[in-house]
Amino acid sequence: MRIGHGYDLHRLEPPPPDGDGRPFILGGLALDHPTGPVGHSDGDALLHAVTDAVLGALGEPDIGRLFPDTDPRHDGEDSRVFLEEATRRMTSRGLAIGNLDATIICEKPRISPHAEAMEQQLADLLGCEVDRINVKGKTHEKVDAVGEGRAIEVHVVVLLEPVTG
Ligand code: MG
Repeated sequence: MRIGHGYDLHRLEPPPPDGDGRPFILGGLALDHPTGPVGHSDGDALLHAVTDAVLGALGEPDIGRLFPDTDPRHDGEDSRVFLEEATRRMTSRGLAIGNLDATIICEKPRISPHAEAMEQQLADLLGCEVDRINVKGKTHEKVDAVGEGRAIEVHVVVLLEPVTG
């Protein structure tokens, strides 16, 4: 078995011209929210943290090295592309998801109404049953940048196990 950890943070800003925020997308889901992540890709912090957790478990280069933010091809990129690459590397090593646990920290929007849909999206992208995936949300108690709604943060741990049979 192999364990991996992933972490990501994105600033949240209003859309142009008041800021550089992109549409709010998290776990591949578009959510209605007045601010959105600043990022070179679509800024999906959950998919980035999951991608880094899987790559970390494999001992492979992280998302920033595989998909540099200096590469114009990734401007506005759908972050599912990054996780699909990590999943391909996992599968080619004969490994599959044992389980994955994600904690999303943001003041708004509330995560719990969307957690199940995010779990399903991750299960589809990772090629596993949804009961192996857990997504939960927390606030940052109104303090610091995350608590003031200026950033979103995600922590992920994942266990990979050999494919059997
Ligand atoms: Mg990121």
